Amino acid sequence: MSEFILEAVRCKNCGSGLTVEVNDNIVYCSSCGSGFEQIDGEMKDIEINFAAAAVRSEGELIYKPFWLLNTTINITEREASGNFIKNLFGGSNDFTGGDILFYIPAFYCKIETMKNLSTKFTLKNPVASPQKYNSRLTGFAYGKEDAAKLAEFILISLEAEKSDVIKRFKYEIKINSYSILGIPFYDKKNGRFKDAVLGTDI
Ligand SMILES: [Zn+2]
Repeated sequence: MSEFILEAVRCKNCGSGLTVEVNDNIVYCSSCGSGFEQIDGEMKDIEINFAAAAVRSEGELIYKPFWLLNTTINITEREASGNFIKNLFGGSNDFTGGDILFYIPAFYCKIETMKNLSTKFTLKNPVASPQKYNSRLTGFAYGKEDAAKLAEFILISLEAEKSDVIKRFKYEIKINSYSILGIPFYDKKNGRFKDAVLGTDI
């Protein structure tokens, strides 16, 4: 028989009890707005904010976590006709570097859904002023390392996908900071959701 160990987790900053789901390694304190990431058994601070709902729909409003990766991209070699980088930097094909804020789902979803959400949100960067909400934020499935790999995957796949021929694409990606953004979704039941920022059905 295995033993159940129930550990009471308290906020390091305000002492409130925290709701932690089994697999969550990141917790948000809805009392004071602090965020913590468990690294090697220690609670490290991580910035957590929320986006406001902009789209109306039916269903209960819940929040799903995204990683926000503030990156600096440096294109060292590029010979392709993809649109991703062009779109991000105001139509210039001669772009050789700059900052990109990647939105990467931190909750479990299919790879197609992840790609769709990441692409839309990263291209539109729709959350200008994230805020602290008194809301629950759980369901973390992917960590920082996963998020960094996914950001690269998005960068490469979008650049390659839309080009007739991708000949060369070399880049350097520097991650300046990680934070968490809670994005509102309408729960449509039966595993269907609609995001309340851009109106994407997943
Ligand atoms: Zn707190």
